[in-house]
Amino acid sequence: MELQTQTPNTLRKVLLVDDDQFLLDMYAIKFNKAGYEVKTADATATGLKLIKDGYVPDVILSDIVMPGMDGLEFVATLRRDNAVPNTIIIMLTNQGSSDDIARAKKLQVDGYIVKATTIPSEVLTQVEKICASKKA
Ligand SMILES: [Mg+2]
Repeated sequence: MELQTQTPNTLRKVLLVDDDQFLLDMYAIKFNKAGYEVKTADATATGLKLIKDGYVPDVILSDIVMPGMDGLEFVATLRRDNAVPNTIIIMLTNQGSSDDIARAKKLQVDGYIVKATTIPSEVLTQVEKICASKKA
């Protein structure tokens, strides 16, 4: 089935990074159905490797609290290396701590979604809103 042609939006490639396999699968299905090409990484190291190997997602949706390098360190690494300068980066996290939000702001992420209060279809809607506002 040609999923990529089902949506008129031009953002196609989404990289999901989350250590929770259940959430990864759930969001992957959601974005896939909406016409996105989805890659998943269950750890930041896996996500970094994909990007180092040449993968350039249009959107990165990353959890924050993960074993090893956390989601904000992952983004800091991408920023430092200027690895994906045109990629929209959105934090998707359970933690709404002011410290994390401050760190995310410092890294100039494009969005911050608290997943505990957001059902998957709303996550998709919010991501599309953020992407639309970035392109405007
Ligand atoms: Mg986590």
